[in-house]
Amino acid sequence: MDKAVLIVEDEKDISDIIEYNLKKQGFMAESVHDGLQALKKIREGKFGLVILDLMLPGIDGMELCKIMRSDPEKTIRETPVIMLTARSEEIDKVLGLELGADDYITKPFSTRELVARVKSVLRRYESAKAGPVAEKIIKIGDLVIDTGKYLVKKGGNRLDLSAVEFKLFLYLAQRPGRIISRDLLLDAVWGNESYVEPRTVDVHIRRMREKIEDDPSAPRYIMTKRGVGYYFSEGAADS
Ligand code: CA
Repeated sequence: MDKAVLIVEDEKDISDIIEYNLKKQGFMAESVHDGLQALKKIREGKFGLVILDLMLPGIDGMELCKIMRSDPEKTIRETPVIMLTARSEEIDKVLGLELGADDYITKPFSTRELVARVKSVLRRYESAKAGPVAEKIIKIGDLVIDTGKYLVKKGGNRLDLSAVEFKLFLYLAQRPGRIISRDLLLDAVWGNESYVEPRTVDVHIRRMREKIEDDPSAPRYIMTKRGVGYYFSEGAADS
């Protein structure tokens, strides 16, 4: 990766440890200690990933993530974010629609685990950007999927799917009618990153539905098989 990691954490001893360990692993890294400073730094556009603490003075991590995700600049809008949270109850919110972080880690954490997550989020991001070799256009109902450009259009409008959402969507869309378990989706999209919990799949599916479905509570494309997993509606092409 040619871009640096920005660490946003007001507890300096924590940011120091993270910065030290990332640099030891060959990353460029920089730390800032409040939300306003962070925003200024992020808008310089030289960071490839942001590690964001939830509780910050100035603008807190949630707010900052929301600001990033709605930035007019695509590179800033799509910069991967790993949230640091103190409480596991916040996870749904962090990964959910509202915020759209790519991953989270709960305090206290091991630096080894954090570095592993930084690597895997970047790997996911890079492979999403590189895309598959053979470009292919798939049309289903009012959806057009461009596998080369990693984009989905609905009624001619581009949907703003994250890399993970796109992979999930494509995996299901290429197998209409087949029920895919959460475990299988985890393998297919996240690979063998064993720390990803099955409910992460649910959170990303929920977020994806908000973007793809007219009525996310009555989905037409991505269907739930209760207690098992998800499938792409076979009838979607006819609707
Ligand atoms: Ca804090």
